[in-house]
Amino acid sequence: MRAAERRGKYLWLVLDGEALVIHLGMSGQLLVEPADSPRERHLHATLDFADDGPQLRFVDQRTFGGLALTDLVLGRGGREVPQPVAHIAPDPLETVYDQAGVVRALKAKNTEIKRALLDQGLVSGIGNIYADEALWRAGVHGRRITSTLTKPTLARVLDQAAEVMREALGQGGTSFDALYVNVNGASGRMTLNVYGREGRPCKRCGTPIMRERFMNRSSHFCPTCQRKR
Ligand SMILES: [Zn+2]
Repeated sequence: MRAAERRGKYLWLVLDGEALVIHLGMSGQLLVEPADSPRERHLHATLDFADDGPQLRFVDQRTFGGLALTDLVLGRGGREVPQPVAHIAPDPLETVYDQAGVVRALKAKNTEIKRALLDQGLVSGIGNIYADEALWRAGVHGRRITSTLTKPTLARVLDQAAEVMREALGQGGTSFDALYVNVNGASGRMTLNVYGREGRPCKRCGTPIMRERFMNRSSHFCPTCQRKR
């Protein structure tokens, strides 16, 4: 193995001329364990490394995740990525990420800003929860139409999305239950300002946070800080 890499929600190990892509799905876990530690009940795969160090184990209580050996191809932004990742846009923390290009693409679209943030072909790595956090921080309602927002406002939303992702990585992500852990089995400690806080006061202005249905999920927002128009 040469490297462990990521783009958006995709993880992969770079091998000689190919890649092992790991889909965590809804409940998959990657754990680093000594080779002699007991097998987990839902252990699906064990990876041994040439240095005879700890193993990497793929554990999944359900079966939405999986591993796939694939070719490496030239992906978006000129980066070599596994075939299943070829259509995925760079995420805001990659060196090949071109924020000005994403702003131009958003400005040219007539779509809701939150829908655009979740479109992995435009910018990857921003899921439902972190989209809500970024929009709240930027003071923009998720149903605003991208073409009607100014370029500085679009850039502010993307800056906040990158900041949320950086913080989340630093805090180990957001753990809603015991399944969401890092490779050492520890839960994330990311503090959410708006997601899951329906009816509680906005941390900026005190207005109760609202929730509405969005793409079969929920959007959380402050009706004062984030005006629909
Ligand atoms: Zn507010």
